[in-house]
Amino acid sequence: MRFTVRPVCLTLAGMLALAVPAWAAEPPIRVGVLAYRGGDHANAVWEPTVRYLAERFPGRGAEMVPLDLPGMEAAVGAGSVDFVLTNTGNYVELEARHGVTRIATLHSSRAGASGAAVGSAVIARAGREDIRSLGDLKGKTVMAVDPDAFGGFQVAWGEMLKAGVDPYGDLKGLRFSGFPVDRIAFAVRDGEVDAGVLRACVLEELAQEGRLDPAQFHVVAPRAAPGFGCALSTGLYPDWPLARLASTPEDLAKAVVVALFQMPADHPAALAGGYEGWTVPMDYQPVHGLFRSLRIGPYEHLRDVTLLDLAREHWHWLALAALALLWWAAHSLRVEHLIKVRTAELRDANRELRREMAERRRAEDTARERQKEMDHVARLSILGEMASNIAHELNQPLGAIANYARGCTRRLEAGVGTAAEFAEASRAIAAQADRAGQIIARIRDFVRKRAARLEPADVNGAVEAALELCAGRARSANIPVTRALAAGLPPVLADRVQIEQVVLNLVKNALDAMEGVAGGAAGEGGGVTVRTGLDGEGRVEIAVADRGHGLSAEAGTRLFDPFFTTKPGGMGLGLSICRTIVESHGGHLWATDNPGGGAIVRFVLPAAAEEHADAP
Ligand code: ADP
Repeated sequence: MRFTVRPVCLTLAGMLALAVPAWAAEPPIRVGVLAYRGGDHANAVWEPTVRYLAERFPGRGAEMVPLDLPGMEAAVGAGSVDFVLTNTGNYVELEARHGVTRIATLHSSRAGASGAAVGSAVIARAGREDIRSLGDLKGKTVMAVDPDAFGGFQVAWGEMLKAGVDPYGDLKGLRFSGFPVDRIAFAVRDGEVDAGVLRACVLEELAQEGRLDPAQFHVVAPRAAPGFGCALSTGLYPDWPLARLASTPEDLAKAVVVALFQMPADHPAALAGGYEGWTVPMDYQPVHGLFRSLRIGPYEHLRDVTLLDLAREHWHWLALAALALLWWAAHSLRVEHLIKVRTAELRDANRELRREMAERRRAEDTARERQKEMDHVARLSILGEMASNIAHELNQPLGAIANYARGCTRRLEAGVGTAAEFAEASRAIAAQADRAGQIIARIRDFVRKRAARLEPADVNGAVEAALELCAGRARSANIPVTRALAAGLPPVLADRVQIEQVVLNLVKNALDAMEGVAGGAAGEGGGVTVRTGLDGEGRVEIAVADRGHGLSAEAGTRLFDPFFTTKPGGMGLGLSICRTIVESHGGHLWATDNPGGGAIVRFVLPAAAEEHADAP
């Protein structure tokens, strides 16, 4: 609220025009007055003082400009007044913001021994025993006139903070009534609020005016200030100063100070203002101290919260955060430790795994080597069993060679025979020698110790080679061996010698089973039949069927067990090695009864994939 500038025109130029001619023709001195209880009150209190000045400057006169706090700020900012008569707090602000300078301090009739006269009285309704100290205000509702009122709020605010109560944080409610301040006393009296803050002496003034009954109130945390006549809850600060603006001429300021200092204590102006004249400007540093602690007015910038303030205010949260951080750090360390331990364990496990893998690889290599040895031994063993037959087989070409040679010798000795006949005999000898050589080469191939070599192999070829090796035995046992080899079979990816070995083993077993079986070779389908063809899944199947004694019940289940044999000189390794060989080629070997008597042992091998089919 800004009171309309109602200049109480006190120009008494006419009266005293000749007294101080220097000020003639000058505009009146304008004194801005803080009307904290409304314009009328300000007029009543301060008009006589301004009139006094007007009297002292007859050629110029003086006028009073009643202003509220914002009005004061605006008037000083605009330079529309020459002097300001304002409350202590407002003065400190104007001093800092606009460079106004105090030139005299009011000497209040109620001033204490120190000369200071401004303080606050915190009042509560009489009988409110729960509000005795300023600390009791915590959680209560409090009313003051205005946040900017010095004695009316700020002094009490500082005192409350000292008592541990922040009006802006610890109260249930903080309300501002605005001027006039009477409302505060009424609100306290009527129980609208628990307590009120009044500028010291306002309570007494209102009582004097008969507007309230002081018995209805008590002053909270009352304190005594030597020589000070009003009830008080706080310390005292200097009273209102008269201040000049920076733009106010020096000589005018001096003249005004002189005029004020010369005012007698019993002057009507002093009586009306309730003071006893003017005195030298007092020290307003305590006010600065208060404002600094409240961080208001010129010290508002201190409100920019510093880290330290935050830390002080929220220390418990910070402590909690620090604890949480500590926990987190400990947790992280623990997790890191666990990870390290786990990593070490994993590394060990890895090392162990690698060692086991190497061992396994070694074991596999050894097993493969053993298998190779076994194959070899098995081949030697089969060959051993058939040695006499093979010898017999070799005997034929050797016998033929000997016959041819002997015939040639006889003819030569008898002097008969033509060159053509001798050439023919030589060719026959060479052919028989080749045949014998082939048999020996095949045997050598068969028994050679060698690593398995997979390559596309013709199954029928392998069958033929195997049958060649046992043809002699079959013949001598008088057992016919029938070939039923399918044409156009796809090659299999296999070690040809091993396939030969399997076929030879199966045929040998078939011959063994048939030897001594009466009528085994006789009749339709008698003897041993070796059949090749494709099974339903496109695999190459080789079956060796015989009409021998067939599989006994025990042999049916233990046929492939190593060392299972029913033969007097048998080792019982043949079929178990055959199965290992076939399975290492991705195939399968099994035995069934031959429906016509005897047994059929078959095995299948997967056909070589296309990309291998053409490989050499
Ligand atoms: P071995 O020939 O040294 O006995 P094998 O593993 O080749 O070892 O054969 C094991 C056993 O399986 C033979 O002793 C025999 O009892 C039986 N057996 C193998 N083939 C036949 C077959 N075609 N007919 C009947 N029994 C067979």
